[in-house]
Amino acid sequence: MTRIAFIGLGNMGGPMAANLVKAGHDVFGFDLAHDVLKAAEATGVKAANVLTEALADAEAVITMLPKGQHVLTVWTDILRSVPKGTLLIDSSTIDVDSARKAHAMADDAGCLSLDAPVSGGTGGAAAGTLTFMAGGSPESFEGARPLLEVMGRKIVHCGDAGAGQAAKICNNMILGISMIGVCEAFVLGEKLGLSHQALFDVASTSSGQCWSINTYCPVPGPVPTSPANNDYKPGFSAALMLKDLRLSQEAALSSGASTPLGAEAAQLYGLFEKQGNGGRDFSAIIEMFRELA
Ligand code: NAD
Repeated sequence: MTRIAFIGLGNMGGPMAANLVKAGHDVFGFDLAHDVLKAAEATGVKAANVLTEALADAEAVITMLPKGQHVLTVWTDILRSVPKGTLLIDSSTIDVDSARKAHAMADDAGCLSLDAPVSGGTGGAAAGTLTFMAGGSPESFEGARPLLEVMGRKIVHCGDAGAGQAAKICNNMILGISMIGVCEAFVLGEKLGLSHQALFDVASTSSGQCWSINTYCPVPGPVPTSPANNDYKPGFSAALMLKDLRLSQEAALSSGASTPLGAEAAQLYGLFEKQGNGGRDFSAIIEMFRELA
């Protein structure tokens, strides 16, 4: 049993902390939102009124927060309170530069650190089947592994500080681009009088196959579990896709990489969000292409 402080108990952090409790760990949680903290308490998390209360005697601290600035602020406070040798794991999706800064802060304080963003969404968080992409020293990774294995099914050590965030935004840039490609193909198929099922049967078993068509098909019918069959309720929201695409473009700019399709995908999801669709599943962008036509 490990004594864990879990900071940020929202849509993802709540179910992840609940799985740590179920596995027998002693989890103290803190969140700025009172209702979120109450909901976590109902799953067995011990609710702390202030951050320092959650941190007392913690062997590991996990953060699951919205953005880089939140992580840097919270880690600054954490590092003032915890003893040397404490393991800090950040599972938020944040920019690579902030992730590296957070590692450097932990290093200066004599603590171990890991960036370990996830994919798999709220369903994966609840089921304990997330994929973790981790960046940090081998010692930090091995220390975190038993906890990550409770919350996830696949745990990949991607490299040094920031490598987990790098893998996350590269993967999600592929996803954003591939979803747009699949949506364009279905809209073109509609114009050409091709049925959704016929295009799916061909493309899902041919060179067009990818996760966006085989598992998450953006039209209702061919893949019954895809959000297209449920009025595009997320799933993975267009707002989160836009966030990750923008992070990929920030990283491309600061590293000097050329990502023209990533840039175009970020523009298109920006337009889709401006039209009021941020809360819908990201595959609903197919409707924007129908309208543009
Ligand atoms: P969320 O908004 O539901 O949860 C974030 C929580 O952090 C909120 O409850 C908020 O009150 C709390 N918080 C903010 N600042 C705080 C502070 N200073 N101290 C304590 N608590 C604070 O967001 P989420 O959907 O759980 O996402 C969390 C992270 O996971 C994000 O970085 C997101 O990009 C990433 N992510 C989300 C999904 C998803 O499907 N929701 C999937 C993969 C990754």
